[in-house]
Amino acid sequence: MALLKPFPCQLCNNSYSSKSSLSCHEITKHSMNHIVPHYQHLPTISEGIINHFRAVLLQDINSKLGFHQTNEGLKHIQWNFPENLFYFFFSNESGFSYRPSLRRYSCVFKGQNGYNRIGTILKCKFWRKNKNKNGCETFVLVENRDNKGTLLKKI
Ligand SMILES: [Zn+2]
Repeated sequence: MALLKPFPCQLCNNSYSSKSSLSCHEITKHSMNHIVPHYQHLPTISEGIINHFRAVLLQDINSKLGFHQTNEGLKHIQWNFPENLFYFFFSNESGFSYRPSLRRYSCVFKGQNGYNRIGTILKCKFWRKNKNKNGCETFVLVENRDNKGTLLKKI
């Protein structure tokens, strides 16, 4: 008998006949999956690269968001995020999730806590000065798409 379900879920024992049904299964059953099955095979990263990346991110945020704008509208910042670096920075966060079939990582930060967490990750407490008097509605989303880039969305 030929195997009619060639798309196994990497997170449980189910298998699927198409990639789209596997994808659907991942969304419904493993929507906030924290497990990256191949994490042991990710190349290790040096402290120097980590620090370098932190500095680049901060510089980029400062130059693109600016310190004087109001908080109206959306800002998108896209970075190339090596997979192992994304895992290193975000895998312990509560907003982290991973979809094996797409090899897609996501990490969502919300509100003041999210702001503080990013400050901790970047080792810069005031990584984004909030000039809005209503202050607490900072919303930041960082996600990696197909290993090609990271999107930062700010409302
Ligand atoms: Zn599954």
